[in-house]
Amino acid sequence: MNKLIGLKIDVDTERGTRIGVKNLLQLFARHNIYATFLFSLGPDNTGRALKRIFRPGFLKKVSRTSVVSTYGIKTLLNGVLWPGPHIAKKHPDLLQQVQKAGHEVGIHCYDHCRWQDYLFTWSEEETKTEFNRAVDCFKTVFHQAPQSAGTPGWQANAASLQAYDDAHLLYGSDCRGPYPFYPKINGHTFKTLQIPSNLPTLDELLGRPEYPLNKITETLLERCELSAGAEIFTLHAELEGMRYLEWFEQFITEAQGRGFQFVPVEALAKKALEDQSKIPVCEMIQGEVEGRSGTLAIQQCSI
Ligand SMILES: [Zn+2]
Repeated sequence: MNKLIGLKIDVDTERGTRIGVKNLLQLFARHNIYATFLFSLGPDNTGRALKRIFRPGFLKKVSRTSVVSTYGIKTLLNGVLWPGPHIAKKHPDLLQQVQKAGHEVGIHCYDHCRWQDYLFTWSEEETKTEFNRAVDCFKTVFHQAPQSAGTPGWQANAASLQAYDDAHLLYGSDCRGPYPFYPKINGHTFKTLQIPSNLPTLDELLGRPEYPLNKITETLLERCELSAGAEIFTLHAELEGMRYLEWFEQFITEAQGRGFQFVPVEALAKKALEDQSKIPVCEMIQGEVEGRSGTLAIQQCSI
């Protein structure tokens, strides 16, 4: 049997929805691939993220990934000089097109910038309200309830996991870690399965002297070959769907040539849920990942 790589596409911005998603749909059609698209559904206030520039580590990332050419100057002013465009209201047809092409669709967030900046300041009620705004947009666009979600920047906590449980999702993908599990925080075990991302993202590797672009494919595929289970690769409509589209197509071609099969994350969730008794309960903690600034949710494996 082919080794599986789950593809999770985070769509952060209106520009990424309009251009990056379209590019990825064409690419996936050429290679006969189905993937998971997680959408930012509310206002694109990317410009407000500029204040992160004053956080330690962010400048390093800016110089590595060249934020202006990646996001475009207009996107960087969304929510600053003019109100951010509401993605689900502006592009319902584009979002529906993704589902019609056979891909899994799910929730990234309502307002990307707000989630990243305020999740840890919100009450459980406020978190639920924000998540449910995304659920409402999703239902309006797709005429069905969402079954999956993965938060911006792997920012997740007890309140966000509770919102998932209340929404009866099939799974969430909100953290980094090696294998599917039920998350536990402060002694409470949540009922929504977590499928963690277990490969580094392109932007975490880019620009580091040990990982020139032409070595990143080899680095990622070597990891996939060494691991026992399936891998989840998280990509961004704004990067792999745009500036790094050519690299991504080469990565896909090389992986398929070596016998890997790309699947939507829901396929891996359903596979794990076939035998729930084998799914471990693991703590979800806050930690750091090389190449990424700040903290994010991490699966803590008991040994
Ligand atoms: Zn994101």
